[in-house]
Amino acid sequence: MLVVQKYGGTSVGSVERIRGVAKRVAETRAAGHQVAVVVSAMSGETNRLLALAKEVAAQPDERESDVLVSTGEQVTVALLAMALKDMGYPAFSLLGHQVHIETDSAYGRARIKTIKTDRLLSGLRQGHIVVIAGFQGVDEDDNITTLGRGGSDTTAVAIAAALKADACEIYTDVDGVYSADPRICPQARKLQRISHDEMLELASLGAKVLQIRSVEFAKRYQVPVHVRSSFSSDEGTWLVQEEPSMEEVTVSGVTSDLDQTKITLLHVPDQPGLAARVFGSIASENIVVDMIIQNASADGFTDMTFTVPKGDASKAVARMKAVMAEIGAQGVNFDPDVAKVSIVGLGMRSHAGVAARMFQLLAHEGINIQMISTSEIKISVVVAAKYTELAVRVLHDAFIPGAK
Ligand code: ASP
Ligand code: MG
Repeated sequence: MLVVQKYGGTSVGSVERIRGVAKRVAETRAAGHQVAVVVSAMSGETNRLLALAKEVAAQPDERESDVLVSTGEQVTVALLAMALKDMGYPAFSLLGHQVHIETDSAYGRARIKTIKTDRLLSGLRQGHIVVIAGFQGVDEDDNITTLGRGGSDTTAVAIAAALKADACEIYTDVDGVYSADPRICPQARKLQRISHDEMLELASLGAKVLQIRSVEFAKRYQVPVHVRSSFSSDEGTWLVQEEPSMEEVTVSGVTSDLDQTKITLLHVPDQPGLAARVFGSIASENIVVDMIIQNASADGFTDMTFTVPKGDASKAVARMKAVMAEIGAQGVNFDPDVAKVSIVGLGMRSHAGVAARMFQLLAHEGINIQMISTSEIKISVVVAAKYTELAVRVLHDAFIPGAK
């Protein structure tokens, strides 16, 4: 078997832990498998580097920021390869540019375009353990790029896809994907299996475990991904292709996302092309808009409300102020004290009344719903941030069988 293993920051957070990882990798190799390993920086290191950048510059240059933060992974690949060699296992480390993980040039959030496999495959064929730096790549001009926070997961799944690996094991400090954040919801259960689409929709819940982009890769290239704890040998959660029986479960997870700011553009003339102007302007800043509401209006004007990640809010508001004047809107409001709470499940396709039930449960707690959006397998609401935990608990207890 060819296995890709990925170890997150906590798993390589100290010298002892790196030795522990080396042992686990060595065991897999000793069992006769070919092993490629992807590692993150030691826990806290990426944050430390980002803080350093902030000390030198109020708005750190994005290109240099990627040169800086990518060093975290350089440390861990070297230490892990050393530890493996010290144990008598042939191993070598490779940085993103050495593998040639080519990305676009969007610093801090680059997307992988291609991965060269020659060097990886020849190393593996010769029996070496190949240790690859997660989170980093190079653009076509050889500038160093990084893939966004949690990007090592995406490196691992992309490497597994490129190598056509038999499995991609993501070792982390939690033992799988839960039906809700166990810190908020003590009744949360570990899911044995979850479909890609559910995992994608569980976004923030899943994102604590896997970077969302890695799930898209896994889906597109059908990479079998196993999320499990690096501190135990228990099975974790398998990310799998959808199966018919999965529709029997109405809701498989409840999730919340505090990384949202609500922005409202007031009194926008109701004319063709204005939504395109508004969101084109946001998109040109590379900002991802999540929910959007626009109401039909009687008097020829309408309000447009949408949400963006908190970190992009000031850019988005500045853009809206500029656009406001151009299109004759009357004002821009924004509110960072909001959260998105969602229920997700394949079974929503075949069970009626799920939304009504969700709204009743929230109403019963006196929680006002500010925005609603739905997809085939998810219903999300925006509520005041202070209600986040209450909303998650109430929905989880009501919808997840066996909870409470
Ligand atoms: N070290 C990077 C981060 O903290 C990438 C990763 O850990 O996946 O975001
Ligand atoms: Mg992670």
